[in-house]
Amino acid sequence: MKLASLEDLYMDNLQDVYDAEHQITEALPKMIKSASSSSLQNGFEKHLQQTKEQIKRLEAVFENHSAKSKRKACKAMKGLIAEGDEVMKERATPDVLDAALIGAAQKIEHYEIAAYGTLRTYADLLGFQNDVRYLDATLQEEGATDKELTRLAGMINIRAENA
Ligand code: FE
Ligand code: FE
Ligand code: FE
Repeated sequence: MKLASLEDLYMDNLQDVYDAEHQITEALPKMIKSASSSSLQNGFEKHLQQTKEQIKRLEAVFENHSAKSKRKACKAMKGLIAEGDEVMKERATPDVLDAALIGAAQKIEHYEIAAYGTLRTYADLLGFQNDVRYLDATLQEEGATDKELTRLAGMINIRAENA
C-alpha cells in the first residue's frame, strides 16, 4: 500500500488493528484456561466477547469507505502475545501466573489504547465523524478493560506476593 496521504495512513493503521484484534480473539481462550482466579477468567471472557464486537465495528468502518476488511500483520501484537505465551509455559505457581497474565493483558490493552487513540485522531482530522463514533466506543472499552485489570491486580498481586 502506497502511503501518499493521511487517509492512506489511516486505512493502513485500520488494517493493522483489525489484524491485532483477530490475534487477540485467538489468544484469549488460552489465557482464560491458564488463569486460576475466576474473576480474572470472567474478565478475560467478557473482553473476548467485546473484542468480537470490536472486530465488527472495524468492519463497519471499512464499510464506510467501501473498503474490503483486510488484515495487515501486526508485528507488535504478535510479539506481545508471544511474551504472554512464554510466561504461560514457565512453571509459575497459580497466583504468580495470574499476576503475569494481568501484566501481559495490560500491555496488550495499552497497545490498543494507543492504536485507537491515533485512529480516532486521524478520523477526526479527516472529517470521518461516523468512524469516530465506532473508534471511540472501542477506545472506551479498552480503557475500561485496562482499569478493570488494574483493579484485579490489586487483589491478585497481593496473593502472588504471599504465594
Ligand atoms: Fe480490542
Ligand atoms: Fe501494529
Ligand atoms: Fe482489548
